[in-house]
Amino acid sequence: MPVYRAPLQDYRFLMNELFEIEKQKDLPGFGELSPDLVEDVLTNAARLCEEILQPLNQSGDEEGCHYENGVVRTPKGFKEAYKAYAQGGWSGLSAPASFGGSGLPSFVTMTVAEMSQSANQAFAMYPGLSMAAYSALMGAGAPWMKEHIVPRMVSGEWTGTMCLTEPNCGTDLRLMKTRVVEQDDGTYKMNGTKIFISGGEHDLADNIIHMVIAKIPDENGAIRDDLSTVNFFMVPKYIVKEDGTPGPRNGVMCGSIEKKMGIRANATAVLNFDDAVAWRLGPKPEPAKAGEKPSSAAGMRGMFGMMNAARLGVGVQGIGVAEVAYQNALAYALERRVGHALTGPKEPDKPADLEIVHPDVRRMLLHCRSFVEGARAVAMWTTLNMAIANSNRAERETAALLADLLTPVIKAFFTDMGFEAANMAMQCYGGHGYIRDNGVEQFVRDARINQTYEGANGVQAMDLVGRKLGRKGGAAPMAYFALVGGWLDDNGADEKLALYAKPVKRGLDLLQQATLWLAQNGIANPDNAGAGAVDYLRLMGIVTVGWMWARIAKLATEKRAAHPPSSSFYEAKLVSARYWMERMIPECPMLLERIRAGGETLMAFDPMVA
Ligand SMILES: Cc1cc2nc3c(=O)[nH]c(=O)nc-3n(C[C@H](O)[C@H](O)[C@H](O)COP(=O)(O)OP(=O)(O)OC[C@H]3O[C@@H](n4cnc5c(N)ncnc54)[C@H](O)[C@@H]3O)c2cc1C
Repeated sequence: MPVYRAPLQDYRFLMNELFEIEKQKDLPGFGELSPDLVEDVLTNAARLCEEILQPLNQSGDEEGCHYENGVVRTPKGFKEAYKAYAQGGWSGLSAPASFGGSGLPSFVTMTVAEMSQSANQAFAMYPGLSMAAYSALMGAGAPWMKEHIVPRMVSGEWTGTMCLTEPNCGTDLRLMKTRVVEQDDGTYKMNGTKIFISGGEHDLADNIIHMVIAKIPDENGAIRDDLSTVNFFMVPKYIVKEDGTPGPRNGVMCGSIEKKMGIRANATAVLNFDDAVAWRLGPKPEPAKAGEKPSSAAGMRGMFGMMNAARLGVGVQGIGVAEVAYQNALAYALERRVGHALTGPKEPDKPADLEIVHPDVRRMLLHCRSFVEGARAVAMWTTLNMAIANSNRAERETAALLADLLTPVIKAFFTDMGFEAANMAMQCYGGHGYIRDNGVEQFVRDARINQTYEGANGVQAMDLVGRKLGRKGGAAPMAYFALVGGWLDDNGADEKLALYAKPVKRGLDLLQQATLWLAQNGIANPDNAGAGAVDYLRLMGIVTVGWMWARIAKLATEKRAAHPPSSSFYEAKLVSARYWMERMIPECPMLLERIRAGGETLMAFDPMVA
């Protein structure tokens, strides 16, 4: 059975040593963060994840969810685990105290999210989506929703969902068909079908608050194939009256749940809206006039905010699954005996050496570890940038640009790498990895969805290349190049750091060349941008994690010298940093070459030729 130990030492290192939490007191939510409070959160979350959530991961996968006549039952133990989760206050960790939450910044809550994703991704998605939903309601909901609904979601008494996808569209939401009609009392009646809704129906909570996008027909009763009439609504499973008293069952029913490859303990629901009572979020949109393209409704901004937060959350899922897969692969390689070390037997009295002696096994393990720790630092740094963006600091605009630029990179690169890492971890098990009882193949199956939902990774790459690079005259990539380039200017001459700074400098130069090439050739022919987008996103991901490893290496070099007797932690950091420089940065020239190949060959491909 797989095991999981929360990587608390790494969280402490990142928070206290690399990002120096005590120097961030001026940031929103950081003022109240005492060392004891942070330590309490970390150790209690670790206990919850190790002792309650992780032991249900494999059994939940085996059993899956059960569907009968619109009712969904989660696997054995999930209800009790959810109760413990809610009672522990974990559902409202980041919500403001005024809503009953703990008001912790995402710099801290990110660690809890990662731990719960490692322990049990299928479980963690129920409260994870709920948090995204109540955050949107806190932003766009009416006062009565904030008074009567949000606190019950924050406490975990109720959960929430995000309902975007329909049978004929997930990426291209212009094509959605779900529609609403306004009623005399200001509410709307919603009709349509949403599919693939995570946690869309279950038995964990008394009510489910669905956050739904749907179209308001134009004055002729027609819905258009564009986003101009799309609005954002709240649709509770059980109606809540505006004074907070409970109402009857609403017209939203679960038609079925999907049988699927992974996260089998998370109910992926088909939801049928049949004259369901819906409340619009945000101000009433101006009616769409013939021939004009109205801007999207204000409520939609709440939805985009919810999706942005969720994208970072999915990137963290990539880290979480890679961490737990790595831990198990390492444990296996330290137990399994197979062959001898290439330089001669390490344990001549035993029939074979431990699997860990083989360089290729070490390559796979270090690939996982170097990704997990580097990516975790980038994710934490991004949450810090998000906090700076909401502060009075002079660099707040730059911080906002960087967080925005890196959101698709974190979503796509970290989930691609998370899947890669889970797959490598499975390889360390040999044939035993393919056998269900050993539990490691579940990580591969679970990790796979992270690359697709919350915007397929290819679509994230198009967001980066097609929107983020050029916005505000290229302000975001310029801020990025100035930051990383500035760090290299300051540290590049230090001989002790040459092993790290030189490769990152090489990667950064190639990334700049790729950016220039896309600016020149992607605008002239958008197919060039589309053809190179995925490689460009990976290039930026590799350079960003590489830069973070260079920063960590600088710190670890200093700390190692200062604490020689207890230096193994810092030594290990330097090994992981070197791995990234030697094995990942060399991908950069290849990626640039692929980007420069452009779109011609891809567009010349004739799918009709046998
Ligand atoms: C287990 C699971 C849970 C989910 N949970 C939720 C949820 O809670 N709420 C919700 O609303 N949805 C959810 N989804 C839906 C998910 O977000 C969509 O499946 C995803 O966004 C892709 O949409 P689609 O399936 O319609 O694929 P399509 O939009 O048909 O796209 C198919 C493929 O085409 C490519 N593609 C499409 N457009 C472009 C483009 N512009 N540029 C480049 N490539 C492109 C991509 O490779 C994409 O994978 C979930 C899905 C699954 C399987």
